This record gives sequence, C-alpha cells and structure tokens, in this order.
Amino acid sequence: MNDAPVRTTCPYCGVGCGLVVGPRADGGVRIEGDPDHPANHGRICSKGSALGETLGLEGRLLYPEIGGVRSNWDTALDRVASSLSRTIERHGPHSVAFYVSGQLLTEDYYVANKLMKGFIGSANIDTNSRLCMASSVAGHKRAFGSDTVPGVYRDLELADLVVLVGSNLAWCHPVLFQRLMAARTARPGMKIVVIDPRATVTAELADLHLAVGPDSDAALFAGLLRALDRAGKIDGRFVARRTTGCAEALRAAEAADIESTVARTGLPRERLEEFFRLFAETEKTVTVYSQGVNQSVWGTDKVNAIINCHLFTGRIGRSGMGPFSVTGQPNAMGGREVGGLANQLACHMELGDETHREIVRAFWGSPRVADREGLKAVDLFDAVHDRRVRALWIMGTNPVDSMPAAAKVAASLDRCEFVVVSDVMRRTDTTRHADVLLPAAAWGEKSGTVTNSERRISRQKPFMPLPGEVRPDWDIVSAVARCMGFGDAFAYRSAAEIFREHAALSAARNDGTRDFDIGGLAELGDAEYDDLAPVQWPLRGGAAPGTRKGPRDQRFFATGRFYTSDGRARMVPTPPREPPRAGGRRLVLNSGRVRDHWHTMTRTGLSPRLSRHFAEPFCEIHPQDAARFGIEPAALVQLRGAGCDAVLRALVTDRQRRGSLFAPMHWTGQFAPTGRIGRVVDAGADPVSGQPALKSAWVTIRPFAPAWYGFAVLRDRPRSLDTDGGADGGSGYWALARAEEGWRLELAGRRVPADWPAYARRLFGVRSDVSLLVYADPARRRLRFAHYESGALCGALFVGPEPVPVSRSWAVGRLARPAGSRVEQMRILAGRGGEDSPDPGATICSCFNIGVNQIVGAIAAEGCRSVADVGAALGAGTNCGSCRSEIAGILDGNGIRASAGADPDRIAGETDGLLRPAGQALPLDPELVETAAPTCER
Ligand code: SF4
Repeated sequence: MNDAPVRTTCPYCGVGCGLVVGPRADGGVRIEGDPDHPANHGRICSKGSALGETLGLEGRLLYPEIGGVRSNWDTALDRVASSLSRTIERHGPHSVAFYVSGQLLTEDYYVANKLMKGFIGSANIDTNSRLCMASSVAGHKRAFGSDTVPGVYRDLELADLVVLVGSNLAWCHPVLFQRLMAARTARPGMKIVVIDPRATVTAELADLHLAVGPDSDAALFAGLLRALDRAGKIDGRFVARRTTGCAEALRAAEAADIESTVARTGLPRERLEEFFRLFAETEKTVTVYSQGVNQSVWGTDKVNAIINCHLFTGRIGRSGMGPFSVTGQPNAMGGREVGGLANQLACHMELGDETHREIVRAFWGSPRVADREGLKAVDLFDAVHDRRVRALWIMGTNPVDSMPAAAKVAASLDRCEFVVVSDVMRRTDTTRHADVLLPAAAWGEKSGTVTNSERRISRQKPFMPLPGEVRPDWDIVSAVARCMGFGDAFAYRSAAEIFREHAALSAARNDGTRDFDIGGLAELGDAEYDDLAPVQWPLRGGAAPGTRKGPRDQRFFATGRFYTSDGRARMVPTPPREPPRAGGRRLVLNSGRVRDHWHTMTRTGLSPRLSRHFAEPFCEIHPQDAARFGIEPAALVQLRGAGCDAVLRALVTDRQRRGSLFAPMHWTGQFAPTGRIGRVVDAGADPVSGQPALKSAWVTIRPFAPAWYGFAVLRDRPRSLDTDGGADGGSGYWALARAEEGWRLELAGRRVPADWPAYARRLFGVRSDVSLLVYADPARRRLRFAHYESGALCGALFVGPEPVPVSRSWAVGRLARPAGSRVEQMRILAGRGGEDSPDPGATICSCFNIGVNQIVGAIAAEGCRSVADVGAALGAGTNCGSCRSEIAGILDGNGIRASAGADPDRIAGETDGLLRPAGQALPLDPELVETAAPTCER
C-alpha cells in the first residue's frame, strides 16, 4: 500500500466508524480509528481493529469462472448478458432477479437497481438487508410517510433515558455502545433500560433489564402506550396538530392493561411498572431498536408500537429523544437510499407513484420503469424454486447460509436455469451453486460511499491494488448492462460519476417533498468526491459539502411536518398480540450475532484473533431445559427444524430464558457444516415488510450422542475436512477455527475410526510412515497423538468418550512455540502447560489476547479490584471495550463487586473450544500428567 495514510470506513456494522489505514514497519497494514470521524471519534472495536488480518488473498476469487473453470471477462460478461436477455425475451422481465447486499457500496447498489428497475423493467431486486431492517423501513413509512431515521448518535449521549429494544448493542454496535457508556459515566443520572429475552452483555450493564418473552415486546409497547395515556402523559398539542390516528391507536392498546401485559410478557409487575414510570417521567428518551424488533412476524407493528409512544408524548424531532433504528450492515442505509429493496424505487421514491416513476424514467432516459413491487427475499427464492424466476444474479451475499429454510434456498439454486454470483471469495456455500462466478473487489480495493445508521455518508477508499482480474461491482454491473444493449445509460468511468448522478436524482423535482435529498453533492468534482468528509443528509442543493450552510443541520421533524399527504404522522393501531409459547418438546430458537464474528465469516473467519472468542457454534439453553432434555454442559446437541438438523455445542446458562434457545448465525460449510443455523430456521415473515422472523423459529432439541469426541491443533488446514462433515473417519461434527500459526479443530464422530494413528496422520497432513507421539489410557478410552517436525508442532489430536479436557488456549499456543527436546514435545500430550508455560485460559479480550486465567492471576497477584485495574495491569478491555462486562463478571466471581455490577452467574460464556462459564477453571487431569508415558509409534 501507499505510504500516506488513507481515511476510509469500516466494512462491518452500521455504526460506520471512520478508520485511518497506514503501513506498518513490518510491511503489514496499520488500522486505527479515525479521530476526526463523527461516528466514532477515534474509537474502534475488535472487528475493526483486526481488519489487517483479513486482507490477504487466501480464498479469494480472482478470475471469472464458468462452470467451475477459469474464463475471461469478455466470455463471462457475454454469458451473463446473453443468459439474462434470453430469459427476459422468452419469459418476460419478471423471470430474472438480483439478490444483492448491504455490503455493496452505494454506487454499486445504484447501478444494479437502475439496471433492474429502469432497463429490465422489473422490481425483482432485493437485498440481504431485507433480513436486517425491512420492518423498520415499513414502520417508518407507515408512521412518517417516508423511510426517515430521525435520530443521530449524539441523541444517545444527550438522553436521560435510553431504551434498547431487541439490541445487544455491546456486541453488535460496539462503538456506539462505548459512546453510550461514556455518556453514562459522565452523567451518572442517565438510565439505560434493556428489553431483551436474553441477559446479554448489554443487559448486564443496564439499570433495568426486562427479560421479555419471545415476541412479546409488541404487547409491552401497547401496554406502555396505555399506561402513558392513563398517566396523562399525552402531548396534546403535538398529537392534535401533528398526528392522526391517536384515538384508534389507544383503542387498540386498550386491551393491554397491566395484568394482561404482565401475562403476555412474562415480566414481574413491579419491573414493568418501573419501566412505565421511567418512560413517562423522562422527557429526553431515546428508544433504540434493531434486529430483535425487526426480525419478527410482527416486526412492522413492533416498530410502530415504539413510534406511537414517541408520537404520543411528542418526543421526536428534538435532540436527545426519538425512536432510533440502528442498522446491522455497513450500507443498509445506502441500499435504502438508492431503492435497493424490491418495494422501493430510487432515492426514496415509490414504485406505486406515477409521478415518481416519471421522474425516474425521464432522469434515467429509460424505456420502462417497474410499476409494481418485486419479489421480497423469501418470496424471491420461493419463485426461483417454482421456476417463476429462471435467472438469478447474487451479489456479495451468501443466502445459502443466511436465509431461513436455507436447505430449500440451496435446492432452489440447483433448480434455477442460470445462477451468476459476484463475490470476493471463491468458495462459499452459495458460490458452489453458480454457473458463472465474477470476481468482485473487496474492502480496501474498492472505492465509493456508505451511509451509516445516523444518515452519515462516508467514503470507503482503496489502499490496495485490484488483485488478479477483480473489478468493482458497479463496473461489473455496468459492463453487463452495456452487453445487454443499454450502453448509453451505463457508460460510467468512475464511482464519482455514479455518485453525482445519484445525488442529482435525489434532488430531481424534489423541492422538499421527499426526505432524501443530497442534491448539494451533485456537482462534486472528482477530487472533491475523493476527499469528501463524512456528511449527513439531507444536504440540499446550495449547501456546500462539509459546511454548515443550508438545511443539512435541520433536524428531521423539528417543525412537526412529516412526509405524509397531510404532513401529519400516523399513529398506527398495534393491538397487543399473544406471543408464542413453548410447549411440549418445542422450543423457540433465537438466532443472532456474537461479538467477534461477522455474518458468514468470509472475512472474520480469516482472523486468528477474532476466532478466539467463540471458536465453534453453540446453543444457549437454560439449565432446567438442559436437565429436562438430558443435556450436559459442553456436550453436543442436535436441533431439528425446517426438516433439517444442526449440531452445536451446548452452553448451559441461565442467561437464557426457559423454553428458548439462542444460536449464532455465523457458521458455514467452511467452518462447521452442521452449525449452519439457517437450515433449521423455518420462520414466517412479517406480512407488511416481508422480513423473516429469524428470532423465533420452532425447533426440537436432543443430545447428540457421538461415539467419541476430539480436539486437535493443526499447522495446516486438513484437506480431508474440505468436504461436508461426516466424510472423514465417521466424524459427525467438526468445527474449524483459525489460530495463530495454524488451526484448531473440534471433532465428534458417530463411528470410531478403525485406525486412529492413520486418522491422526491424515489430520496432520503427514505421510503414513512417520512416527507419532502417542499416549493411550485404555481404561478411560483416551488417546492422544502428536507429531513434530524439526521441533515445530505439525499437529496434536486428543480423543475420548466425553468432551476432551484439554486447555485449548495453551495447546493452540504450542503451534507457535518450538519444542526442541523430546521431553518438551511430550508435554503437548498432557493437554496443559506446566508452571513455566501457564495456561492463559479462555480468551476474554481479543484485542490483546488476554485469557480468563491471566485476569484471575492479576486479581490474585496484583490486587486488581476493578475493570480499570485489570486494564492497567494487562491492557484487557482498554481498546474496544466489548469485553469489559466479562471482566467485571470475573471480578465478581472472585468476590470483588465490580464497578460494572455484573452478576457472576450471568456473565457471557467463553468457549475456548469447550463452552463453560468464564472464570471456571478447566477440569484438571493430574493422573494423566503424572502417568503420561508416550511411546514412539512407528
Ligand atoms: Fe466497524 Fe466495530 Fe465500528 Fe462497527 S463498531 S463500524 S464493526 S469498528
């Protein structure tokens, strides 16, 4: 990369942190938070700070491929264009579809949307953002007449009460959470309420945690509206002059009295009343919500139930208050702006509005503009399955893992006549179904803009050259459009050109009638675009970028005017619903993110640092449910739903509600094939937004009873695991994770391999005639193998009839530590270190690689009494801060009431391979340590 630092934006969550990227002395890339970026002011989280570990070319798709064979761009583009054109000619424009991504840049998104809606003439373009925040879009449009996010991050710092609904902000939007924590430290009177079925890390740090039952938050907010009414908290003037529908909304909420709300939510009455009182009495209240609200069959109603409470109290359009949807992806907002959803046109214009269609058609000079909604994600893949859609282009996303009923999505792709995938990675669970693969530019290579959750547009800039034959997505889509005969409209030479066009369209015949207007950026020169400072919209014509001139500083809805036909906001009736109840053997499965992984791990799975916190997929289950179903801690469990199975590690914890389970969404066929949670999620979708209910799928659970368990550390990725699980030695489960200098692997098999040494050698990737170090304990059916080459560990395998008691962190650390003598080498067979190589324990702080045992050691040896003390002693928790509540839990577990006030029984679990509560030592195996007498097996 160049010597000069480059200012860019993080490619992960919707906080949209600014980064400064520069060269390191060792030839690597230095990534730091941008102190001048208004979203993060220099802060950064664990994912952002590990970006440098994800920049290599390993696994990249570098050349076009047709049928799995390398091709060239001319042939591939011609194949894509001719297939699309032929399908349209034979079956009409609605027989083709695009499924795109919130990872695309605005310029990419704009061109794809233009091609589909303006030139193909269908609205069959939808995006993985449908899975993320479509219910918020629908709720905004119902209430405000526009998809307007009225809040800004500063509101969270200015509020006296912040209500987080269905949002594990500490893990999913870490830097915004840091800002919130810092604000509360500065103003201790500020209160934080978390509404979430799980006792998440975020909930641990709240003043009040309402552990509502699944999908009962709609009833909770209906109850709140009724309580606000009874308490006389209506802003009568605002409601009378600025809203309609209040009487109907109150009538709908009438059934939500306190008794029935207690019954529906499962909350203690006094907690509910405390929350109602806090909300009623606190003028400056911000309600932040995300996927826990959106991913529901009632997602849109939940959004409107929240907005109703703000409209009723007039708490909107002023600083420090308002409803605030935070997005999951880096450019979900940009996708909304360009109209990347199947039910939008472009620049917040409507498909069903004839005037809007004519504005767009005239501006684009297009032959036709789609005049009806296209297929939303779930319906889109159903249509592919039914062959109503016969040609599909997937850009930058992995629906075979991320969609519900994922097995059906895979089957749909197999049935589809033509599938093209443009991606940065060669091998994903989706690319294997493609007829044509197109190599796309990755973060650090591409140039464009993204918009974060607070409507702030920032530049993503390249700092590395385009490798192989990769091209930016906008360039690929434009080239296909030209091949299809739409050349004049797609003759773009740069992302800047596209951005100017997008900005100009937003201003076309706008005159303040539409919220999205960035006409002030329509005349940017190339250099100005390149140097564009982060800027919030609206930025109407006449306001120079980067200045405070013009209506940019005007807060949305400050005048009480909304974008409905009469200018008034709508209070939408949202009657309290009866939430689902677990019963019999069925449990409610909630899926979501973990702290250090992102989506389907195509990027974060490359980072050893990010793979430490959770190294395998897991399933949280309440201890009473675990006892009921015969599930032991750290055993494997089998979930069944949607006609498919998933196998995951059991994390038994009372952070989880009875009757509910939680499993992460991230694991794929590349890292843990049986951990693909989308296969067992057969959720319905919200009828208004089309967003799948990924937080509440019905599953059954039972122990997965393997014949053996195993754990391995490996220098090289094993070749034999490249196929789906079960193919190797009777292994029914494997989970592979990146480690420094190698890999770590959890295993379990239904059948015991006939030849263990041969199995071990295959895993280690060594010849069949090499010697292995072996320890055998026949009485306990434990076996351990290891092999060193020139003092370097090639691999170690530990197997037994139960989850193997090996110190994962210590064993992984042996890969990077040469062992010269035979005695030293034999230590690996003990599975844990001696006094001279202490076990760091399960990783707590990924940024500085600090384990639980180190923290416990610092408490004992250095007298650490607080999270700050631990930070001073070890550095843990002083970078991204996401682990601070876990540190607080360890302090509490050691008899020190930590300042964060976390409950030791409720701290986040740590995997380190085997899931167990942080702070609890691994079971020791003294007999093994003393009696291990490895023999040399030849
Ligand atoms: Fe990236 Fe973390 Fe900032 Fe999100 S909070 S944008 S993941 S650095």
